Amino acid sequence: MDAEHVKDDLVDILFTEAQIQERLGEMAQRIQQDYEGKDLLIVGVLRGAIMVIADLARSLGRHVEIDWMAVSSYGSGTKSSGVVRILKDLDTDIEGRHVLIVDEIIDTGLTLSWLLANLSSRGPASVEIATLLRKPEAQQMPVEVKYVGWDIPNEFVVGYGLDYRERYRNLRDIGTLAPHVYS
Ligand code: 5GP
Ligand code: MG
Ligand code: MG
Repeated sequence: MDAEHVKDDLVDILFTEAQIQERLGEMAQRIQQDYEGKDLLIVGVLRGAIMVIADLARSLGRHVEIDWMAVSSYGSGTKSSGVVRILKDLDTDIEGRHVLIVDEIIDTGLTLSWLLANLSSRGPASVEIATLLRKPEAQQMPVEVKYVGWDIPNEFVVGYGLDYRERYRNLRDIGTLAPHVYS
């Protein structure tokens, strides 16, 4: 694979950089209203959420703290392993804090429901979830996602933080990969 031509592997662009920025701006406005007068700690889920955090946080015209967690629920391919592990925990004590977990995509919802339960047990003032993308399966989960960018079809997407075998995160757009990439 030629890393200089990473864009050529996308067959279908679902969301362009401009569309993503516009949607994040709308989400940021809602978040700003909902957290008015409250301190806010954004928890980014590594590594996929790096782009969302960077752009969402800069869309917020207010003070915000950012911390990171790394959890693993997927293997190196496209299928969920069904197992969640903490690879990196928060550096912040979230007791009494308003926490907003930000992720780039919810598929089965397994990762975020586990994370929600885990962070809730630490005594925060509140915990909510924001995600840029959500797949159909996640809507059957009992997890309430307060902020959703878009609901998308059940396709494997890459770009804007989303990887396939750790590649494609650095694409500005979000799209699906050409079949030749998988073979
Ligand atoms: P869940 O636990 O909700 O099934 O999976 C969440 C994680 O799986 C996401 O944070 C992401 O890392 C990965 N994932 C789920 N769907 C996709 C997808 O379509 N593309 C990519 N690149 N990763 C996905
Ligand atoms: Mg993620
Ligand atoms: Mg991944």
